[in-house]
Parts: sequence; structure tokens; C-alpha cells
Amino acid sequence: MGGHPVNLAELDARHVWHPYATVPPAVPTHVVESAEGVRLRLADGREVIDGMSSWWAAIHGYRVPEIDAAITGQLGRMAHVMFGGLTHEPAILLAERLAAMTGYEKVFLADSGSVAVEVAIKMAVQATGKRRLLTVRGGYHGDTFGCMSVCDPVNGMHHIFSGAVAEQVFAPVPPLGYDAPVDQAYVDEVDRLAGDPAVGAVILEPVVQGAGGMRFYNPAYLRAFREICDRHGLLLIADEIATGFGRSGELFGCDHAGIRADIVTLGKAMTGGYMTMAATLTTPEIAERIGLLMHGPTYMGNPLAAAAAGASLDLLAGRPWRAEVGLIEETLRKGLAPAQASVADVRVLGAIGVIECHEPVDMKKAQDTALDHGVWLRPFGKLVYAMPPYSCTEAEVATIAKAMVAAATA
Ligand SMILES: *Cc1c(COP(=O)(O)O)cnc(C)c1O
Repeated sequence: MGGHPVNLAELDARHVWHPYATVPPAVPTHVVESAEGVRLRLADGREVIDGMSSWWAAIHGYRVPEIDAAITGQLGRMAHVMFGGLTHEPAILLAERLAAMTGYEKVFLADSGSVAVEVAIKMAVQATGKRRLLTVRGGYHGDTFGCMSVCDPVNGMHHIFSGAVAEQVFAPVPPLGYDAPVDQAYVDEVDRLAGDPAVGAVILEPVVQGAGGMRFYNPAYLRAFREICDRHGLLLIADEIATGFGRSGELFGCDHAGIRADIVTLGKAMTGGYMTMAATLTTPEIAERIGLLMHGPTYMGNPLAAAAAGASLDLLAGRPWRAEVGLIEETLRKGLAPAQASVADVRVLGAIGVIECHEPVDMKKAQDTALDHGVWLRPFGKLVYAMPPYSCTEAEVATIAKAMVAAATA
């Protein structure tokens, strides 16, 4: 830019909107110059471990040679081509692979997780002819209007958009705790709500509620939801965008319960954190009921993203992710235990670690404390949490845990 140095942080503050922020933002943003392995290199020269995997996505870390090569290889053929009436190898092979991995044969390649959820909602409406969804409080399914309507009404700030967001049916938050005993009264309440004749489908994050509160619930509830759907003739949508690809210790969240949904959404880690791409999958029977599906984004099936996803899934298949996630779980459990006495809750499942504080955390203070410990974290509300790349060493995960404890008690 004209050969003279620009102050990027200053320009950013003047022009750029960041997630859930004002311009300029209330909490300063950090310029990242590059990233490699599990580390981000900040413009001020600091190198920090990414405890967030860029929001669940970068499971293999950064500058992964195999994914870099897949994208540059595809770049030499074409970066993009419209998907209406045309098709290409990266998308076809990715769809085949997702179908083989999940058992759902029909694949819609969406351009973001929110779009994948919108498509899932459209599928459910088209297949059932019903307009309403049943979901649980404490959920997160994306930021577009359809998605927002099934997010937690309080966290999702429905009051700002009242009248503009579809009104859905909400069951209470599933009782907290992966191992907590099943509360039959809860199941009965969901069963009662599912009897609403306007409801055609249920949408849930299986076992792990992510951005809506980082809560884990007993997989037995997921089985109960499946039974309730069957009893009332409802479709079950499993939003596996955060839980997919091993994060919770099983390949998919539904695997904890041994159930199958009718429609599944995937995203986040699908491309290893390289490109935006997501997918909505369903069965041939439901695809037939839907018929003409009314959706088609401009960048649908983007070849670069599909190539990245193919390479990322190859890597996942080749790496001992179950053992890696197990080691992260064990290391987070050990490392977060010292916080237990001074915070409201500590919980760990798979490669997800959460500290819930008594009060909302001071984001800047918590973030600066974590950075001083060499770790990038992004707390929200009362939560300090991490989902490290699977490629982290035990020592790196221990460092993340130490930074979380320091950030939560700062
Ligand atoms: C992140 C997320 C989404 C939205 O995905 P985007 O790619 O951010 O649009 C939807 N559902 C769940 C469960 C998520 O974690």
C-alpha cells in the first residue's frame, strides 16, 4: 500500500466488523501475521498456541502440507465453477466420502454452517409440510434467521428481532452432565411438547451444546428424543457442525447414543479450518419426499473447499484421532482440576474443556492473561473454554489448561 507502513490494527478498528462486535470493537482485536502447526504468530511477534482451533475447525493445525497441496493442486485446475448444471470431481468425491462416512446418501454442499442448517430446516418443512420445529433451550445453530429461530432465545437475543424471527417450540435445557442420571420428568415434558400438531421436526446438537453454553448432556436424552420423534412422526435433525469429526470423543455426537437422525448437518472441521464449506445430509426416502429442494448458493460445492475437505478427511482417517482426543481429554481434566474450587463448574468431554465462572469474565483481562501464558482463548459470558487441535502435544494441551485456569481466575 504505497510502500509506507500501515497501521493494520487502526484500520481494522475503523472499518471492520468482527463477530458479535461493534465498530470499533469494545475489546481490541489482534492482528495475526501467519500460523503454523498449532501456533498463531501475532503481528507483535508473539507466538501463541491456538486453544480454539479457530472455532472447532482447525483440527490438524495450520499450514498442513497435505491440505496446502490439495488446494494448490485444485487451483491449477479451477478455483470455482457454478454448480447449477455443472459438476466436478472434488465435490463428487467429497459427497461420496461423506455418504460413506455417515451412512446418509444424499448430500447438499452448503457454503457455511448456517446455510447448512437453513437447508436442513427447508428439507424438514418440505418433507413434512409442517412449519414448526421443536428444539431445546441453550442451543446454537447459526446466525441467519432460520437458524436464529432455533437458537437459545436469551443467548440468541431473540428480543432484538422479535416479530422477525419464526416462533418455534422450546423444551427446557437438557439436564447438565454427560453422566447425570436421566430425569424422566424432563423426557415426559419433551414428549408433551412434541404433540403440538404444528411441529414437523426436532433439531438438536447431539450431546454437546456448543456456542449456546458449552454444556454436555446424557446421551440417553438423545435416545429419548429419537423415540419421541418416532412416536409422533417427527423428523430428527442432528446439527453435528461442532460435534462432527471426532471432537467429542466419538466420530459424531449421535454415536454416543447409538442413534441415527433423519437429517444431519456438518461443517466447521470438515475442511480442517481452511475454507468455508458445510453439508446437509439425508436419506433417499426423505430426499424423495422433498423432491425439488429450493436452495442453491452461488459458491455451492466450491472446488477449492471440496479439495481441502477431501484432504482433511484423508488426514483424519489416517491419524489416531481417538487416542489423540483421549489424551487431550485426560490432560484437560488434570489441568483444569485446580480451578474447581474457585469456579462454578469444570467440565471436559473429548477434546473440549470448559470452565464456567460465577460471574461473566472480563474478556480483555482473560484474553490478555491467556496470551501471557502463550495461548489464544476466546471466552464468552461466564465461560472460558478450549477445543485444541488434535495435533497438540500433551505439553501444549497442559499449557492451554494452565492458561484457562489463569484466565478464569484472573
Ligand atoms: C458454528 C455452528 C453453526 C453455524 O456455522 P457457521 O459456519 O458459523 O455458519 C451451526 N450449528 C452449530 C452447532 C455450530 O456450532
